[in-house]
Amino acid sequence: MKPLSNLSASDRLVVDQTGFALWVASFRQTLHSTPAGWFVAAWMAWGRVPEKNLLSWLVLFFVVWMMGLLSIGRALKEGCDQQTHGPRMRFMAALDGMAWGLLGWLLAGHDVLLDPFLVALLCGVSAVNAQAYVPYIRGYYLQSGLMWCVSVLGLARYASQQYSLDLIMAFSVFQVLMFYHSSRIANRVREGISLQLANATLAQQLRGLLTKVRTDAATDALTGQGNRRALDELLKQQQEFSVSTGQPFSILMLDIDFFKKINDAHGHLVGDDALRSFAQRLRDCLRQGDVCTRYGGEEFLIVLPLTPLPVALEVAERLRQAVAAEALPTTPPLAITVSIGAATYKAGQTIDALMAAADAALYMAKRSGRNQVQS
Ligand code: GH3
Ligand code: MG
Ligand code: MG
Repeated sequence: MKPLSNLSASDRLVVDQTGFALWVASFRQTLHSTPAGWFVAAWMAWGRVPEKNLLSWLVLFFVVWMMGLLSIGRALKEGCDQQTHGPRMRFMAALDGMAWGLLGWLLAGHDVLLDPFLVALLCGVSAVNAQAYVPYIRGYYLQSGLMWCVSVLGLARYASQQYSLDLIMAFSVFQVLMFYHSSRIANRVREGISLQLANATLAQQLRGLLTKVRTDAATDALTGQGNRRALDELLKQQQEFSVSTGQPFSILMLDIDFFKKINDAHGHLVGDDALRSFAQRLRDCLRQGDVCTRYGGEEFLIVLPLTPLPVALEVAERLRQAVAAEALPTTPPLAITVSIGAATYKAGQTIDALMAAADAALYMAKRSGRNQVQS
């Protein structure tokens, strides 16, 4: 794993963005549990502080709370992009901290028993937020930092009372410890996020490689069409589909006429080029779902899904004409013809029997003078 200091600027941005999105989700969870905190504070403060103070604090907090939930809802709905939502979400974290801090202004200083409880409650809020904000520690510094500032300023108004100073001291020590430990945990969380991202990237690369290996294993290197292995797999699938649905499929076996002469006259490399051009011409004449494979040297096999024999014969004739109509764009251009044997899958037939039927038809096409289609 790369240590955080070794991350590139763009990786760092991705880690930041992921941490931000995780934080927004857990920020929402903490806001969901916030009413429990109000309830506890109100319960304890009831009858111990002036009612208008308690009511002001509750109303103010409720407004901040609603704004927070709405902002979070919007951020989550719009994909939690840090650039777009970061400033507003940090503002909401700051407001949340201030709202808790106001507890030191509106509820503290009225009852000797209540104040230590309020400070303990603030410590609890800080602890709960620390774990929720840890993927995005900046949010925690803002929220808890402001909570500390505002509440301590509130408590300091009673600094002449010894117990108030004690509370400020205790809360401050607690906050320093929380900040110190949270920042260490935040670093580890960021390292975890970075590791996860690295793993995800690796997994994606491996998936890509695997797909390429699979494709390569099923592709004929010379013509880029399916190879024998792909053909066997495809025929098996077509047979199963035909057995279960009763739908027909056909195959065309093609063999270039007198191909040996091309090799003899122009050499093997020109012959290879002719095979590539020939395959491309076939591809250009076929529908999307039809599959062209190289069956052997200058023999090709085309699978026509959902195609009965009369249609297969039409396709074969179209291919034959397209090949004969124009010389292949090789150097020099080569005028060739092709013989084609067509066969349609019959219920209960084996793949070998189907291939033998196409082979027999091709043989007949050759015997009858080549450059023709037989079935
Ligand atoms: P026919 O009309 O009876 O099919 O005659 P043909 O000459 O095409 O048939 P034959 O089977 O005698 O010859 C096929 C030739 O195809 C022989 C072989 O050298 C050539 N061939 C097979 N694979 C390749 C290849 O990958 N590249 C090249 N250049 N030629 C190939
Ligand atoms: Mg041949
Ligand atoms: Mg041939």
